[in-house]
Amino acid sequence: MRAQPKVLVVDDEESVVVTIKAILQLDGYDVATTTSGVRARSMVRDTEYDLVLSDLRLEDGDGLDVLKAVRECHPDTITIMLTGYASLESAIQALRAGAYDYLVKPSEVEELRSTVARGIERRRLGQELRVRLEQLERANREIGDLNSSLQRRVDDATAELKERYEQLKELDRMKSQFLSIASHELKTPITAMSGFLQVALRRVRRMSEGEAPVPVADGLRGITEQLEVVYRQTGKLARLVDELLDVSRIQTGRIEFRYGDVDLSELATEVATRMQLSTTAHEISVRHNSQSVVTADRDHLEQVLNNLVTNAIKYSPSGGAINIEVRPDDGGVRLSVTDEGIGIPEKELEAIFGLFYRSPDRAARDAAGMGLGLYISKEIVVRHGGRIWAESAGTKGSTLNVVIPRVPIGATKTDVAQPSAARR
Ligand code: ADP
Repeated sequence: MRAQPKVLVVDDEESVVVTIKAILQLDGYDVATTTSGVRARSMVRDTEYDLVLSDLRLEDGDGLDVLKAVRECHPDTITIMLTGYASLESAIQALRAGAYDYLVKPSEVEELRSTVARGIERRRLGQELRVRLEQLERANREIGDLNSSLQRRVDDATAELKERYEQLKELDRMKSQFLSIASHELKTPITAMSGFLQVALRRVRRMSEGEAPVPVADGLRGITEQLEVVYRQTGKLARLVDELLDVSRIQTGRIEFRYGDVDLSELATEVATRMQLSTTAHEISVRHNSQSVVTADRDHLEQVLNNLVTNAIKYSPSGGAINIEVRPDDGGVRLSVTDEGIGIPEKELEAIFGLFYRSPDRAARDAAGMGLGLYISKEIVVRHGGRIWAESAGTKGSTLNVVIPRVPIGATKTDVAQPSAARR
């Protein structure tokens, strides 16, 4: 049920006010009255009427002031002005000032009723229109929000697809790169071995058939040298296959660590002494500190250090000093391998730890490798809870740093309790 429309009647003649009130009450309105302009103004401020019917000329003020007060406080309230013939002029002025209509006094009852009814209907329609407009605006906003959230989802999905596509492309690129690098790297020692074995075989055949062109002792020395080359090449092949196996173990999560106490100074000295045997162009030295014991997998850390020193040798083709420094760092122990080689361009400092990453730089390309050593080293170090990073001035010398925490982060107690044992 709709509430009774509230009407205020203002006229300084008591009889007019009473009559109008009686007529309008019969039509179902809730009617308030006053004969004072001042009082009327305060009433419209306090109460929101649906319609105000006011005489233009009041003893204690102007009907236009009542109209003004209504428009200030409740602009949607309908105002109808009552006027005598004489002030038609002011009635027009009242319309201009925002009154809805005017009635000329004395007005007919029917005209009064229908004008008020129209005013009330007008207000009701206006209110309904506003509600509808608000609903429309809300719906519009919701559609807008939905639209942009939909757009956002489409954008996100597109971006994700693009990323997946790029990842797939990158994987594809890496796969072909791997196949070409791996086959090249594996083929080189096999070709060398096959060549040397052929020569050695020919020698042995000739000797066994008694047609040795050279004395037997010389022939045997030649064969021995060739077999040594072949032996060295099998070592190289085995290392390459080991690297591939390591990557496969890492990627399938089958890499296992056996933790124990490892003295990194001792390990560094051991690796340096062994690697020094493989080069005369480089001078490998170790600087260390007494506090360098960590709980770690010795064989895997040895593999990391081996990789770093092998690289230091490989990427210093004109020789030079290689220093391994061992010192406490950040609650762990830091190993730094510094060389005086070709250096690493700044933009590659991080990329070199990627799978199959090989520098596009010619000088680096000349050295053989599959781009796996640093990837494997990083995986080992990270799985110990440590860090690995490269520093280089760009074209002269590099330092590869590794920090191993004193106790491996994330290793379980049983891991740590296990004794260190040979890995392969
Ligand atoms: P590989 O040596 O088999 O190419 P690595 O993963 O060991 O693979 O190294 C990746 C790349 O990082 C190398 O190809 C080389 O460009 C660069 N690099 C590594 N160590 C050094 C170093 N000490 N000096 C200069 N470049 C290096």
